[in-house]
Amino acid sequence: MTSLAQMPFQFTYSTVPGSCIRSGLVKTATSEVPTPALIVPMTKGVIPHVTYDIQLKLPESKMLGLLYTDLCDLDYDRIMRSQNKTAREFLFPEIIAQQPNSLFLRIRDPSTTNIVGPANGKQTAVQGGTGKVRIDSTSFLSTIFRTQPCIASLPCDEPIVEEPVNDPEAEKKALKRIRKSVMQTIGYGDQIIEMIKNPKLPELLNGALTPSDRLPALFSVLEGGWSIDSREHAVKHVNRLCDLSDAIKGTVVSGLDQVKPENISAVLAPTKVLKSDLVRVVSVLGTPDSIVTCILNGMDLFDTSYPIQLAECGYGLVFPLLTDALYAALQVGVPSYPIPFVINFSLPQFQLQNTPFVTTAKQLFEESAELLQDCTCPACTAPTGASTAYIHHLINTHEMNAVVLSSIHNLHHYQAFFTHLRAKIAENKPDLPTILLAYSQLLQKARTSQEIVMNKLGKEYKNFE
Ligand SMILES: [Zn+2]
Repeated sequence: MTSLAQMPFQFTYSTVPGSCIRSGLVKTATSEVPTPALIVPMTKGVIPHVTYDIQLKLPESKMLGLLYTDLCDLDYDRIMRSQNKTAREFLFPEIIAQQPNSLFLRIRDPSTTNIVGPANGKQTAVQGGTGKVRIDSTSFLSTIFRTQPCIASLPCDEPIVEEPVNDPEAEKKALKRIRKSVMQTIGYGDQIIEMIKNPKLPELLNGALTPSDRLPALFSVLEGGWSIDSREHAVKHVNRLCDLSDAIKGTVVSGLDQVKPENISAVLAPTKVLKSDLVRVVSVLGTPDSIVTCILNGMDLFDTSYPIQLAECGYGLVFPLLTDALYAALQVGVPSYPIPFVINFSLPQFQLQNTPFVTTAKQLFEESAELLQDCTCPACTAPTGASTAYIHHLINTHEMNAVVLSSIHNLHHYQAFFTHLRAKIAENKPDLPTILLAYSQLLQKARTSQEIVMNKLGKEYKNFE
């Protein structure tokens, strides 16, 4: 037990009988987040391309992902301390500070590979906007005490290790690197728990800890890449860390972006023996089909910038949500007719799977009306209406409003995706696991049948294009 005052944190959940599917409620000091849910990504304290007034119109933004380097780059953490402000108070203007949301501080950037090493068991290094930031237990704890996020995920060593094909020598080498990353990441956890138990912590942190500071909920990081053995090993250590300290409230299952989509369930199997009251966050992995697969495997929160990245590459999400109608259709089987996944706004002519080529602006407009008429997002319902034709025009005239409107739409669509999933989990019909599996297959089929070129993304995303 740690004697430090902890920030309020509570996770209640229930599991659908006969499956691993969970629904729950994460209660922090500042918001209540029903799960499964999206952690909305931020850059430098703002949701990319989304203004504060629009953020207020996206009430599902109840947990926001804050990047560790965004705090250190500009010395924000020190400035916050000198102004006696928490990260929420410092980053958000008054209107947003009133919105009930929680900050989730993490080191891994969900949109890029920012962990650069060297990881030597004592410290890890990440690429920030102004250079390399080295993180050890002291600097990590100083930053989280200064900034007071609701949740802080622990430092990790997250190398990109490709799965070799038919090359036993390369596989041996890759597995060695994966095991090393598992042990180093657990090592950081051990060091941090040791420090928070140390009665001399205030001196060790050199004044960074004041009597009013409380310890955020700590989330350990569970690595292991594509190796099921390494995942099993990591799960044991994550459970051990929980036994060592009640400050550990969750775990971040990372590195799933390096796993082939068809292997995700197998790689997640070892997490079945994770301590069940830990909140399980999936980091980076963001396609809707893989998210549904992860939900089937008992995951709770999703830290991804996928909807924003798609918007930045000129795509609008239109994949089907799990409505009553779709649920009923899936009870009969996965539909064989083509299902659209995205609109490629940038193409001069675009073709949806089941429609002829669209050639005129008028037709574009009619086409978009058909697809987006039901969308209630702040972009599609604005007086100027973000029709496909309008966004297409903005992209081709290099107007930056194109990415603004499509980000708003995509974020809203992703949040609606989770809302519908939660509703269906709550209904808890006996065929729920079968339907979710079929839904995941439908989404994967829709996604892979449309060519999506995400040229801004790192290599790890290529597997999912
Ligand atoms: Zn919309």
